[in-house]
Amino acid sequence: MTKRGTVSTNNIILTFDSTDLPSEIRVGYVKVRVRPFVPAPMRCFRCQRFGHTKDNCRGRPTCSKCASQDHTDETCDSETPRCVNCGEGQTPHSAYDRSCPAYVKEKEIMTIKATRNLPFKEAREVYNQSHPKTSYAQKEALRRGEEERKAREARRARLVQKALEAKEASSADSASGSRKQGARAAAGGSALPDLRSQEEVQTFFLQEVQLGEELLAQGNMEDGVEHLCNAVAVCHQPQQLLQVLQQTVPPQVFQLLLQRLPLAGQRLAASAAAKESASITEDDVE
Ligand SMILES: [Zn+2]
Ligand SMILES: [Zn+2]
Ligand SMILES: [Zn+2]
Repeated sequence: MTKRGTVSTNNIILTFDSTDLPSEIRVGYVKVRVRPFVPAPMRCFRCQRFGHTKDNCRGRPTCSKCASQDHTDETCDSETPRCVNCGEGQTPHSAYDRSCPAYVKEKEIMTIKATRNLPFKEAREVYNQSHPKTSYAQKEALRRGEEERKAREARRARLVQKALEAKEASSADSASGSRKQGARAAAGGSALPDLRSQEEVQTFFLQEVQLGEELLAQGNMEDGVEHLCNAVAVCHQPQQLLQVLQQTVPPQVFQLLLQRLPLAGQRLAASAAAKESASITEDDVE
């Protein structure tokens, strides 16, 4: 059975009137093995994209060798192949290369379509589900994001731990009567920043806001308010922060915050004065 321009392959294509493919059929007395027919992916010879032919092409004519749009492969004199279907970061290849990742993908979809007897769209969905679309860069970003999140959580846990320890220490102090509330020099467990260092103030501010929210979320109103007070005290625009807090924390927490705020301010001023005089002393020594 050969026609002019065709090749004999010992294969015949049959269409079965059922959704399940038999593993073999009988032709006379001979058993013949049946395999699903997987057609090659259809690549357009005009725009080089997959899924349509040049007769239905609505794309721009593109060189299959170098992906340029101002000539075809017949007049191409490019030294380096480039595939219009693949992004950068792959081994350079032409659009007709059988190792092209886009071709390999299309081929896999065609295989799913044939073996599972699915429409093309569903076969593509099956493929996409088993090949989540994450590039190396995205995976890397995800991995780093995850690490950062873990580091942030660990840092928070440490801060909360420190605050709880400080709280225990200060309540032990007050039990022995040696210190009163105003003498809680460590400001709820946090060392006060050097107000002359913008960086230190910024770090302190963020830490206190986070810690305050964390403690409030745990139901520890006293310490939560203490830390939020610290944040407000070092804030350049305390009114703005107070407005935000008023909208986000429960009213009784906000009331307590307003009550405690002057004390936090005094503590900060006292600490600044102490650091100032300490540094003057240092300067004198030098
Ligand atoms: Zn096309
Ligand atoms: Zn070209
Ligand atoms: Zn390619």
